[in-house]
Amino acid sequence: MKNICLECDKSFESNSSGSKAKYCSDKCRKRANRNKENIDSTDRYNADSIEVLKDDNMINDPRFDWKLCEELSHKYRLNKDWISRSVKACREAGRQPNYFINRYLEKDGTELDLRVDRASRQIQKSSVWRELTG
Ligand SMILES: [Zn+2]
Repeated sequence: MKNICLECDKSFESNSSGSKAKYCSDKCRKRANRNKENIDSTDRYNADSIEVLKDDNMINDPRFDWKLCEELSHKYRLNKDWISRSVKACREAGRQPNYFINRYLEKDGTELDLRVDRASRQIQKSSVWRELTG
């Protein structure tokens, strides 16, 4: 019986008659289960959060950047230091964090702003930043 693996899209031969196999291997089955758990916990997080992301006043207010970075790091499952640095770079270059979110997280094709790019590299190099993040 020919099946297509739901995880890796490979076709595979299943020897079990009756119930249709969904994954080609244990590895794929485990990976699929892990992904499912991740999606579930992301949903739970969003429901409980303060939701800076949905509030324009908060997202544009530097005082909430720490919260914004936390939410972004949860939502996109990315390194928080990198997000913090990028948001800080936006502020220093006179842009709202939306620039970073749209260009680097949503990847909506927002044009590169060299000022933010430069600011980000400066922050990375500066020892002040290393002190701040420990
Ligand atoms: Zn597979």
